[in-house]
Formats: sequence, C-alpha cells, structure tokens
Amino acid sequence: MINITIDGPSGAGKSTVAQDVAKRLGIIYLDTGAIYRAFAYAALKSNVNIDDVKQVAAFLDSADIDVRYDGCVQKVYMDGEDVTMYIRAHNISKAASDISKHIPVRIKLSKIQRKIAAANDVVLDGRDSGTYVLPNANFKFFLTADVEERASRRFLELKERGAEVEYSRVLEDIKSRDFNDSNRDFAPLLRAADAELIDSTRLKADEVADIIINAVRKKR
Ligand code: C5P
Repeated sequence: MINITIDGPSGAGKSTVAQDVAKRLGIIYLDTGAIYRAFAYAALKSNVNIDDVKQVAAFLDSADIDVRYDGCVQKVYMDGEDVTMYIRAHNISKAASDISKHIPVRIKLSKIQRKIAAANDVVLDGRDSGTYVLPNANFKFFLTADVEERASRRFLELKERGAEVEYSRVLEDIKSRDFNDSNRDFAPLLRAADAELIDSTRLKADEVADIIINAVRKKR
C-alpha cells in the first residue's frame, strides 16, 4: 500500500503538487482540507456557532459526511448532498480553519481519512497527515514557502476564479490560518520528524512533484 502524506501551511502548493503526484503514480488524491471545508460549510448553513464546541460536537454527531470518487475527482457529500462546489469561498476557508480546532471534529474527520488510506493507494495533503492521521505512512513530505509567496499564489488562484479580493486581505487570512493551524492544542500543523522538508518558494509545482516522485521511486 502506498500512503504519501504532504503537509504544510496554507498556500504552499500542496494540492496542485499532490494532484500531479497522484496522476503520475496512478493513485488517488485525498484533499483533506475539502472535508474540513465541507463540514464548515454545512455548519454555517445550519447556523451552528463555530466557536461553541458543544454546538459543533452536537452537529458533528448528526452529520453524515461522505467522501466519494467520480473517476479520480473527489467529491464531498454532507447528508447526501454533494457540496464540493460550495466550499472554496473565502468565508469557508476561515470557517474551516476555525472549526478544525475542535478535538471531536479532528477525531471524526481523521477517521474518514484513515479509512480511505487503508483501502487505497493514496496521496493526502493536509496539516497533520504525517503526524496524527497516518503516523506510519511510508512516504512523508512537508511542503512550505515564504508567506508572501503563498499569499500571492492564493490571490492569483482566487482572481482566476473571479473572486473580488485584495492581496492584503489574502495575506492576513493566510497569516491567521497559519497561526490557528500551528497553535491549536490537538494535532497542530507540524512537520513529522521523518518527513522530508521541501521549500517551494522558488520551485514550480511540477518540480516539487518530481522531487516527491523521485523520492518515492528510490525508496520502493
Ligand atoms: O487545505 P485547505 O486550505 O483547503 O484547508 C482549509 C482549512 O482546514 C485549513 O486552514 C485548516 O485550518 C483546516 N485543515 C486542517 N487539517 C487538515 C486540512 C485542513 O485543520 N488536514
């Protein structure tokens, strides 16, 4: 079984790289952030107070969260509804970051990820994939880049999608998500001791994917 974890801060290029690696190795890509986003989207839609752990935990208990694949395209279903197309908005990034600090949320969403990784060759991108979700994964990477570079990548991505957003707001948002992710008590964003560090500030996504694929092929 191949389990490749790619962790790192927001905007480091994890999802582009992970998708490329998955395609080139012919395995599936699991976007773990999409699961947090889908849960945050559903919670907002149901008027759950995201800062209130009791309300969030009660909503979590009743939530039916399902990850399915349409070919190699991942879709997330909340109570039977495909919500994948609603989860990329700016307010959902913030809500996902806030809701992901609650321990019951991390436990339940990690179980979903482990189940998929146990049944499939998979490349996951996330924050705690190599430390908490799959500490025994056979290939681990930690992808980072300077914060300004990460913000400009995210800014261009949002612009391409037609979003009206200012660079300074994207930069502040990335900094605040970095802070949230790195400072939560349970399963924070952390490089696993056995994860290879890759700084992508001056690398293109396909160059990062090459590094990962070469490391995987060498070790196998
Ligand atoms: O990766 P993405 O930006 O889509 O994730 C949205 C938010 O979900 C992140 O800011 C992070 O706070 C949270 N997240 C997490 N653990 C993961 C994936 C995402 O806490 N494995």
